Amino acid sequence: STKFSMVAAHSRRPAGEDSIFAINNAAQQAAKVHGADKVVNASVGALLEDDGKLSIIPSVIELLRGLPAVEYAAYAPIAGLPNFLEAAKKAVFRDQTPEGYIEAIATPGGSGAIRHTVWNYSNAGDHILTPDWYWGPYKTIAEEHGRFISTYTLFDENDHFHIEAFCKTVEELLQKQDQLVILLNSPANNPTGYSLSNEEWEAVLSFLKQKAANAEKKITLFVDIAYIDFAGKTNECRSFMKLFGGLPENILTIVAFSMSKGYTLYGMRCGAMICITSNQDVAEEFKAANQFSNRGVWSNGTRPAMTVLAQIFENPDLLKKVETERSILQQMLSQRAAAFMENARKVNLKVCPYKAGFFITIPCSNPEAVTQELQKDLIFAVPMGKGIRFAVCSVPEKQCALVPEKFVKAIAKF
Ligand code: PLP
Repeated sequence: STKFSMVAAHSRRPAGEDSIFAINNAAQQAAKVHGADKVVNASVGALLEDDGKLSIIPSVIELLRGLPAVEYAAYAPIAGLPNFLEAAKKAVFRDQTPEGYIEAIATPGGSGAIRHTVWNYSNAGDHILTPDWYWGPYKTIAEEHGRFISTYTLFDENDHFHIEAFCKTVEELLQKQDQLVILLNSPANNPTGYSLSNEEWEAVLSFLKQKAANAEKKITLFVDIAYIDFAGKTNECRSFMKLFGGLPENILTIVAFSMSKGYTLYGMRCGAMICITSNQDVAEEFKAANQFSNRGVWSNGTRPAMTVLAQIFENPDLLKKVETERSILQQMLSQRAAAFMENARKVNLKVCPYKAGFFITIPCSNPEAVTQELQKDLIFAVPMGKGIRFAVCSVPEKQCALVPEKFVKAIAKF
């Protein structure tokens, strides 16, 4: 039956919970029945302690708590606090700042940066490019703004970045549209844990430069670094950023900064979008257009979180403390991932090429059915288009070690 509807035609959306939250709820129900230690809840995209509590970087929370009342009560400027914007650039680039004009605008997390990029750098009805393994909200955000998602195969037969597939899809889209937004989540990709090597980044950029020889084409490369603080050594895992310098003026790079994971401030909704361009006008336009969008969509961002980041990057001792505390979390995460990967090898479980990050993905056919089957063993993971996402970030090492064998058995049934 057609239900009575009040929303405008473009806003008719399917009802129901977000599927990841639904699986999380099911896992929590199972924990009540069977006991928390019997349940593997690998649905949550947040780093958790072994006891299931959210991992915290204590010094960040201390800073937040220590702020005077007015820091909570007052608005931030629409574009973000100036000292936050400076700190965000430092947090993103560290010692790997590329050449060019660099500007920053505060957004509510990386999500806000995705939204503004989609809206301001593509036209109505355009296709936004992302790999076949991608974070679901990319599609939500694209569709919310009247855009579509196009995908290419992320991995080639050697489990490297599929540069041919990427180039072919870019080529096809640029034949149909003049503006192209490319969303690329690396390092520590969600959901696969893949990080492009510098050689792979070079290949991407060299192809885009070729395409940019046609001055009518405008390419925006959006680099989502949501998990970069868990992707390896600070400067090593940022070295690809240098490659964003000296690109043609019709290639704009936008890096999305998020305080959610790296500073354990998921709920504070704070981040920034940072542009790198060889043309000063493009940088000024970036500021103007995205500041306007801030005003037009959510006004301004979360002031206390901005102040916290500014304080961290204005005080080397504080920064060191945050990094030391974060490295404990990083180590816990790496050990869990290593336990999973080692046992996956032992039982010949095919997994996507994991380098770092919160998730490991198991490609398989019939992911919905396999996910259901795993739930019989009290393992709760998330079916994706072509596989299953297992959140090593939220599962203790011991359980991570036991799970690959269960995957093999469940997959064999379908
Ligand atoms: N990008 C990716 C790939 C993510 O997984 C997430 C969070 O899960 C984000 C961006 C955005 O997070 P936030 O808006 O909290 O910064």
